[in-house]
Order: sequence, then C-alpha cells, then structure tokens
Amino acid sequence: MTATMEPVLALDDVRKVYPGSPPVAAVRGVTLSVHAGELVAVVGSSGSGKSTLLHLMAALDVPTAGRVRLAGHEAGGLSDRGLSGLRAHLLGVVFQQFFLLERLSAVENVAAGLLYRGVAGAERRRRARAALERVGLGHRLGHRPTTLSGGERQRVAIARALVGEPRLVLADEPTGNLDSATAAGVVALLRQLNRDGMTVVVVTHDRQVAAAADRRVELRDGRVVRDSGRDAGPGGGDRP
Ligand code: ADP
Ligand code: MG
Repeated sequence: MTATMEPVLALDDVRKVYPGSPPVAAVRGVTLSVHAGELVAVVGSSGSGKSTLLHLMAALDVPTAGRVRLAGHEAGGLSDRGLSGLRAHLLGVVFQQFFLLERLSAVENVAAGLLYRGVAGAERRRRARAALERVGLGHRLGHRPTTLSGGERQRVAIARALVGEPRLVLADEPTGNLDSATAAGVVALLRQLNRDGMTVVVVTHDRQVAAAADRRVELRDGRVVRDSGRDAGPGGGDRP
C-alpha cells in the first residue's frame, strides 16, 4: 500500500541556474509531487521556466540544487547508465518538435522507443503496431513522417512515448506546432490515455491544453505561484 502511495514524480526545492554572465536562474525552488493517475498541466508564459523544469523532471538535466525522485528513485544518485535505464523504464517524453526519424516508417519510429528495453525485434514491431492503433494511427503504420500531417506526427511521437508502458509521460508544448483543430485532437488523446490510467504531465502556454487538465500548476519566473491540486488531496493545505 505504501509503495502505491509513493509519488511517481517528486521535486524537492529544485533549482536550475544556467551559467553565464549574467547567470540565468530559470527554476527557483520548485517543490511538487505528482501521483499515479494524475493529469497535470504546468502552465506559464514563455520564459517562465517550463522547458527547464520538464528537462529536470525527465532527468535530462541536472538541477543546480534540490532533489528529483522518479518512482522513488533519486535521480541525483545515479550514474549516466543508471539514469538511462531509469528513463527507459519509467518515462515517455513528447516534444513540440516531434523528433521523429525521417528515414523510418511510423512503426519503426515507435519501435525505436523500445530499443533500450531489451525487447526482441519482432516483439518491438508488434508492440509498436499496438501503440499506433491506440493513438488512432493503425492505418499509417508504413508511412514516413514526411508523408504524415502535423497531428499525425505528434500521435506517432506519443505512441513512441507510451510503447514501453512508462509510469509517466512528460510532454513539452505537444500542441505548439499544431493548428487549433489538430491540437484539440491531441489534447483529447492525452486525456483518453490519462483516463486509461497513464500519469501525464504536460507543460504548455496553451489555454486549451491547460483547460483539459484536472490540475494546473502555474509557473512564473521559475516559481510555482499557483497549484490547483494542492488543496485537493487529504492534508494538502493551500497557501494564499
Ligand atoms: P519556457 O519553456 O517556459 O519558455 P525555458 O525553461 O525555456 O522557459 O527558459 C527559462 C529561462 O531560462 C529563460 O530566461 C531562458 O532564456 C533561459 N534559458 C533556457 N535555456 C537556457 C540555456 N540553455 N542557457 C541559458 N539560459 C537558458
Ligand atoms: Mg519551453
């Protein structure tokens, strides 16, 4: 029981300063827990530190101070190899720019999401097909990214993020390159995945995306200035 109550993601007074002259304090002491089954939108204007925070959450970057725990594992205590393993098993990450490999088909792009999981080739393809069907692209398996629309490309990227059945999907402005109708479809998909049990954190400045989330965390100048989920849980006290 205790194990299931452990947050999927816990940030404790996390800070990030980019060195330079002058240095930039992009994240200034963020404390935040995300529990299994949540759909959280981290919102804030451009430059508020959303992408920096997402990179810290994904252990793609190292905080200047503070701690990041993923499913109970302290990211700071792990070697590069340990971190890669942790990411491969726990996380799926989706970016605004999709980052698909243009020379590979949709199914090959998604199967690539399992490369570090020690899954055999045929099984990788079988799971990739299932993931593409789940995002509504069962009819586009052999298509290369250049022959897909923006919305379809982002669905392929989402399928790649979830093919390993991660504990947590992190998305950075997933609708940033999409028109609003297409974006609405991607938002609906993220909601559906969440209803099916996926824990999702999406960072965005898009109100439409934020409105779809049950919990909104507002970031301003690298600090959390509002968290709609903070007073929702038992024992959670909201600050004015
Ligand atoms: P957002 O995603 O909300 O637009 P970012 O996390 O990208 O915000 O940026 C937060 C702040 O950190 C901004 O002032 C930005 O210019 C700065 N920043 C982001 N990345 C770097 C970097 N690699 N080096 C120096 N400053 C950076
Ligand atoms: Mg950003």
